[in-house]
Amino acid sequence: MLLEHLKTKLDAIEARGQYRVQCVTQTPTAPQQTLTGPDGSPQARLMFCSNDYLGLASHSALAVALAEGAQRWAGGAGASHLVSGHTGAHEELARTLAQWFEPHVPQAKCLGFSTGYMANLAVIATLGDADTDMFSDALNHASLIDGMRLAKASVQRYAHVDMAALRAQLMLSRAKVKLIVSDTVFSMDGDLAPVPELLRLAEEFDAWLILDDAHGFGVLGQRGRGTLEHFGLASERIILLGTLGKAAGLSGAFVVAHERIIAYLLQAARPYIFTTASLPAVNHALLTSLGLIEGDSGQHRRSRLQALQQQFRAGVEALLRQYPTLPWRLLASITPIQALVVGRNEDVMALSKALDEVGLRVPGIRPPTVAEGQARLRITLCATHTAADVARLLQALFMLASTQVGL
Ligand SMILES: *Cc1c(COP(=O)(O)O)cnc(C)c1O
Repeated sequence: MLLEHLKTKLDAIEARGQYRVQCVTQTPTAPQQTLTGPDGSPQARLMFCSNDYLGLASHSALAVALAEGAQRWAGGAGASHLVSGHTGAHEELARTLAQWFEPHVPQAKCLGFSTGYMANLAVIATLGDADTDMFSDALNHASLIDGMRLAKASVQRYAHVDMAALRAQLMLSRAKVKLIVSDTVFSMDGDLAPVPELLRLAEEFDAWLILDDAHGFGVLGQRGRGTLEHFGLASERIILLGTLGKAAGLSGAFVVAHERIIAYLLQAARPYIFTTASLPAVNHALLTSLGLIEGDSGQHRRSRLQALQQQFRAGVEALLRQYPTLPWRLLASITPIQALVVGRNEDVMALSKALDEVGLRVPGIRPPTVAEGQARLRITLCATHTAADVARLLQALFMLASTQVGL
């Protein structure tokens, strides 16, 4: 019965054109990859889809630090943090991150997690108790939404970055605690939330602000501290989530907030308490990653990213001028996430497939991940791309644009 039931559901996914398959990659995370083809043969691809924005995942210093961490700590943590799994490596990483954010979150403390998904469930489900109203941007990440599903709080969604709508909801709320929840950099659009306005509203209405900086951490700000450094913001009302599997090039996540909030999460957050602590060696290597992010190497990589983003945007803008009847639209973005909205699902999938055929890996993103009629190519740039890589992508897009308009 279960197997038939699932077959019906799988068939429906396929009929909607939403059936997904995963490719097997045989090389470390880097723009140039080798995949295993359907017949088992190796296939070369230039990819524009990882979130390894600084290109640290394949940095030799991280491989060395991981090996060193394995020498020092060997294998797993063996238990959850509160039992016996909280090693010196976990503690040192948490202390370092708390210090990093002290200028932005006074009296900061930090709690580490194995993944960002778990960190978001932990913070939102635990702080969102029955005395709380939560206010959530319509384009927030799935992990924030799932946290809200677990929370006892009442949840109100406001239209994407619509500060007037948020203000109206805050004004009507009579809850003891109010929590505003937002991505800082939206993962499918690449745009920035108006974080200074969010903080002003939090102050005006005595609310608190949960910010998910998964795509800002390491990328934005002079020293790579992320969105708070970019905007120069500081407030004890900020609860900051960051992930360590994107720009930091490894895996894990953290929450930085006022020490009372961290103290409560440690006592009450089930996704913190009931899971084995992450690998000590990874925590050890993350300290090297933080050093790279804030140092000269990080600054150099961030400025390379800026140059690649400008090159890409200038190229697409030239393309849109050359083919004005094409219904493509490049969304505003100062981040490595560049969204080229194409519209129809079948069009975006055909484009993605055509790019794949010339060796370029650019995913098409369709509903339900984005709104109906907003299907898009989601291009992500990494500091390890070259100007020639971006030129190759632009050339392929020009070629496809010319066939679309029937020239
Ligand atoms: C990737 C992502 C997460 C999840 O982080 P993981 O460490 O990959 O589990 C959370 N929030 C946002 C906005 C993300 O993009």
